[in-house]
Amino acid sequence: MDFNNTEIAFKGKTDADLNRSYWLFKIIGWNWLIKIAPILLKIFMPLGFPIPIIKATIFKQFCGGESIEGCNAMIDELGYHNIKTILDYSVEGKEKEGVFDANVKEVIATARKSKTDFNIPFSVFKPTGFARFELLQKVNAKETLTQKEEEEYNRVKARIDKICKTAYELDVPILIDAEETWIQDPIDAIALEMMEKYNKEKTIVYNTVQLYRWDRIAYLKELIVIAREKGFYVGLKLVRGAYIEKERERAEAMNYKDPMQATKEDTDRDYNLALKICIENIDMLSFSCASHNEESNIYLTELMKQYNIDKNDDRIYFAQLLGMSDHISMNMGKAGYNVAKYVPYGPVKDVTPYLIRRAEENTSIAGQTGRELALILKEKKRREVKNT
Ligand SMILES: Cc1cc2nc3c(=O)[nH]c(=O)nc-3n(C[C@H](O)[C@H](O)[C@H](O)COP(=O)(O)OP(=O)(O)OC[C@H]3O[C@@H](n4cnc5c(N)ncnc54)[C@H](O)[C@@H]3O)c2cc1C
Repeated sequence: MDFNNTEIAFKGKTDADLNRSYWLFKIIGWNWLIKIAPILLKIFMPLGFPIPIIKATIFKQFCGGESIEGCNAMIDELGYHNIKTILDYSVEGKEKEGVFDANVKEVIATARKSKTDFNIPFSVFKPTGFARFELLQKVNAKETLTQKEEEEYNRVKARIDKICKTAYELDVPILIDAEETWIQDPIDAIALEMMEKYNKEKTIVYNTVQLYRWDRIAYLKELIVIAREKGFYVGLKLVRGAYIEKERERAEAMNYKDPMQATKEDTDRDYNLALKICIENIDMLSFSCASHNEESNIYLTELMKQYNIDKNDDRIYFAQLLGMSDHISMNMGKAGYNVAKYVPYGPVKDVTPYLIRRAEENTSIAGQTGRELALILKEKKRREVKNT
């Protein structure tokens, strides 16, 4: 498998698509612009002014549509290239009970969609879509909740249970995203409860492990021991982690031990170790390697070969985000591995916080934007596409 094969990587893209991506990644590389983007959006968004621009550029690159139905063309297009879709309702930052309940309905709708579409192997949700951040923070810090907060927390657990139960009944696996360390303990606790309840016969519920945390290999090993003792299947999504700057800043400001690995090499080592641990326990575990890191993706293919696991064994998935690392997704899909893209969707104005995070992430991770640009340029050169 050759990740440098840009002809396969960009097979579904027109010349105009390539040019749009080229300019987009170039602009995303401008640190100063990405830094002031949230302020500009706060000023201009209420006027509706930036929406058409966002829709034609960054939204088009990183999102599948504004609704589940609106993603159909994208789902079919990816499916054509042997890439599955994970519909990710990416509306963030709305902390109202009514919105939390509406989000439950939306995630259940994605699970129902998955049931009817061969190209959608999982559903996914972000726990803060159903819970107030400060409430989770309080639970995480083991602070005593007021009676009202207890009731509120019970509603959060009931929402997640409703989704996992529906996923179980529909027989559609569901991924739980991981978030900041200072709200992650209650998420892990709920995920464990859900696995115990719904993963008795097969893997339905998947928790996410962030290997940029130095404590996650221990978490992973302990989870496997618990699951073996209690007799349930483990589901995991392995990621490196998305909040490193925020995590380090908070730890320093509040003077506690940094939960992050000391170096990138430490994160990479633990990520690959986690892949190996998962493979060694594949008799009771399903997982996805959710990464844009070429070495980790290749390493997992080598492990699969070493352990005589078929390329399309449904316990193992490779996953990337829409609009990024097509050179990995497309080449792996063509080679016959199980590959899926997170396909974020939602009304343009509501997914804008997600898009800003995407832009910030591309700016902050050295190499990522440069790599995307280099690949696009290589393909433009191969096709002799001029800049427009
Ligand atoms: C399908 C999918 C689902 C995802 N779901 C989640 C999720 O639920 N929760 C979540 O937090 N993230 C999630 N992510 C994002 C992910 O955590 C990473 O931010 C992103 O994928 C970049 O990491 P990488 O493995 O692709 O590889 P790389 O680009 O090789 O690694 C970059 C990552 O390495 C780590 N890193 C960078 N510098 C250092 C350093 N100096 N010291 C220690 N570590 C460092 C950081 O985690 C950084 O994001 C998801 C990503 C994908 C593709």
